[in-house]
Amino acid sequence: MYRREAISSWKSGKYVASIGALHSLLGLLPSAYRLTISSEEYDNITKQNLIAICQQCNSENNYSLTRKDKLILQSISGFISGEQTEQVWTCNECSKYNQVTKTKFIQKVIKQPCFIKVIPDPPARKDGMLGRTQFHIKFSNWFWLALSSIEAQMGRYREEYQPKDADMFDIEAEIQDGGESLE
Ligand SMILES: [Zn+2]
Repeated sequence: MYRREAISSWKSGKYVASIGALHSLLGLLPSAYRLTISSEEYDNITKQNLIAICQQCNSENNYSLTRKDKLILQSISGFISGEQTEQVWTCNECSKYNQVTKTKFIQKVIKQPCFIKVIPDPPARKDGMLGRTQFHIKFSNWFWLALSSIEAQMGRYREEYQPKDADMFDIEAEIQDGGESLE
């Protein structure tokens, strides 16, 4: 019921009602399966997937956990390029500096964002900041992420309460079939 309500509200642009229905849907889940709604946590998890490769030792660094510094350039090359500072980060393996502009980064994609048990906060509509269409797109992205995350948890819950006997009967039937063919 809440699922249908959430989707129809989303379609007709009743964002507050849509969020309310999703919250109610979330409330149906047992606490062990419930999701956290927090942009901060969500961003932290996403950020952890940015990998920086050290130019000195080739090791992979979780970029969010590295030390960042600004080096003041005093060399002629710095003078020529017109830059006074250089952004660097320190490798956690060899403790050497790496220039950000020369670093190879790898963004590891979360394959199934709906399985991380955290949803970002719904986008807030600030007057004049986003146009109607833009907001709808932004809200829609959030909405489907939230709904699929809730559905994934519901699926898990259902799975764990499925009678395990069904599988056992299948195996028994196969053994019997095999036995008959041997005769
Ligand atoms: Zn290194």
